[in-house]
Amino acid sequence: MEVESPLKTCQGAPRGGACRDVFRELKNPYYIGDQVALTQTTGWVDAWTSQPSVYALTARRTEDVVAAVNFARENNVRLVIKGGGHSYLGTSNAPDSLLIWTRALNGITLRDAFVAHGCAGQQAPQPALTVGAGAIWMHTYNQVTTKGGRYVQGGGCGTVGVAGLVLGGGFGSYSKKYGTAAASLLEAEIVTADGLVRIANACTHPDLFWALKGGGGGSFGVVTRVTLRTHELPNFFGFVAITIQASSAAAFRRLIGRFVSFYAGSLHNPHWGEIVNVRPGHTLDVQMSCQGLTRDQAEALWQPFMQWVSDAPRDFTFTQAPVIRVIPAVHRWDAAFIKERAPSVIVSDDRPGAPEDNVFWAANLSEAGHFIHGFESVWLPASLLQADRREQLADALFAAARHSNVELHFQKGLAGGSEEARAATRDTATHPAVLDAFVLAIITSEGPPAYPGLRGHDPDLADARRNARRIVTAMEELKRVVPHPASYVAESSFFEREWQNSYWGPNYPTLLSIKKKYDPTGLFFVHHGVGSEAWSADGFTRLSGR
Ligand SMILES: Cc1cc2nc3c(=O)[nH]c(=O)nc-3n(C[C@H](O)[C@H](O)[C@H](O)COP(=O)(O)OP(=O)(O)OC[C@H]3O[C@@H](n4cnc5c(N)ncnc54)[C@H](O)[C@@H]3O)c2cc1C
Repeated sequence: MEVESPLKTCQGAPRGGACRDVFRELKNPYYIGDQVALTQTTGWVDAWTSQPSVYALTARRTEDVVAAVNFARENNVRLVIKGGGHSYLGTSNAPDSLLIWTRALNGITLRDAFVAHGCAGQQAPQPALTVGAGAIWMHTYNQVTTKGGRYVQGGGCGTVGVAGLVLGGGFGSYSKKYGTAAASLLEAEIVTADGLVRIANACTHPDLFWALKGGGGGSFGVVTRVTLRTHELPNFFGFVAITIQASSAAAFRRLIGRFVSFYAGSLHNPHWGEIVNVRPGHTLDVQMSCQGLTRDQAEALWQPFMQWVSDAPRDFTFTQAPVIRVIPAVHRWDAAFIKERAPSVIVSDDRPGAPEDNVFWAANLSEAGHFIHGFESVWLPASLLQADRREQLADALFAAARHSNVELHFQKGLAGGSEEARAATRDTATHPAVLDAFVLAIITSEGPPAYPGLRGHDPDLADARRNARRIVTAMEELKRVVPHPASYVAESSFFEREWQNSYWGPNYPTLLSIKKKYDPTGLFFVHHGVGSEAWSADGFTRLSGR
């Protein structure tokens, strides 16, 4: 199809009702996901602006993908792949390109006894899930957990695409227990640059299989479906929400130090994940999740920390009543249950006729259609939790939070994780630093949907650049305590200089040789993807000598 952006209406009449409607819809991730021309991020200051392809193919079958790949290769056409469209780095859009859009490849099938193709006799049958590359996690969890009573390791944000998350090596709330999404991959069907449909698993094309486990989306071919391991559900999933305001800088520094010790002693284990925000203005905001604990167990764990805070009323206040809640695991993604019990945490797709399970977390609302000012991330090694290093860590967090909010995503580092999670993740292309890290620290800033150059909807670029500088400064404070900074491709800076080393470390040379084997001409290009150093920044020109 020829691609026409809904934003076209804004070019003629930026203040008109039709344009206003489009911008209102840009706060609905399901609307964005259903638009061939749009991506979840509108752009990133001085990095990229979302631009539609000229033509797109809506893939409904693997053969459609084969036809598009062959056409692009034979005609030297710039190719783009989009699934959930959540790439922060802008790698699922490019001007003057042909888009392969996988959103309609969204079948979800639970399997009782899966054996990967060619692995009979080598692998025991195991429960699994086969899912189309363009499905999103919210729908997948609904099938697997709400309806199927099982668990699959996907992402936290419900509207992220399944294949995009797996290929990027993504994490969900309970990754400390179950590993990365990439580590759950048992098999993928992929169309490679030569137009062949290949099955990649531990027994067939094992090199390609390994590269797909965290080697990054858009670099090795077009994945059409994936099969992922499923797990028995724990009894309970839980949530803890606590916001503490410190009355002075000195009190805040003590609070951070106390939390670090509390984390190291009580939460650094497979039960706990999700986010703690260390905010400017002396606020510590806990938004954590747990699995496999009863409410009594969770409350007992947090009691000493809460008591310590309560014992110093002049220094600390709870800005709202702390919440520790536990629910039967089967309802974790059950839209009807959550709408009834905790309506404020969930937002529905409000378009007429939208399916009931088109819901997303209110916490992700700010990111719908956002325009990024800056995004920096780094894994913090677990050695910082040792008793003699904790003060150093607390100092760094305190210093960084003077400039910007520091988000600590505990589920995105596998130190302290289960042996099963760590072993499976070790056998992926993701940087091995993930195994030594207890947390991924993310520092970001964003504004509402905006498009540079779109009259009336321009971002405030001066403000965006100021925020971007603040973020870099904050991250420099954290990096002082990290000798070898590393992160993972899907949630990282567009401007990462040593990206090969940062994302993949010692795995990069192997990934590059696999790239050259399956895509020798570089048909698949994405910004900071494996092999992209051989190409101009726009992916159109092979650099001489590469
Ligand atoms: C609001 C938001 C929340 C997020 N939350 C999390 C989170 O909780 N945990 C986490 O780990 N990450 C998270 N991310 C990052 C996210 O995991 C990655 O951006 C992921 O790659 C997105 O996949 P997608 O299919 O939605 O995006 P897309 O932009 O469609 O794809 C991402 C990349 O993968 C490629 N790709 C997509 N489909 C295929 C395919 N079938 N074959 C080959 N290549 C393909 C694309 O070309 C692109 O390069 C979040 C991002 C956003 C914007």
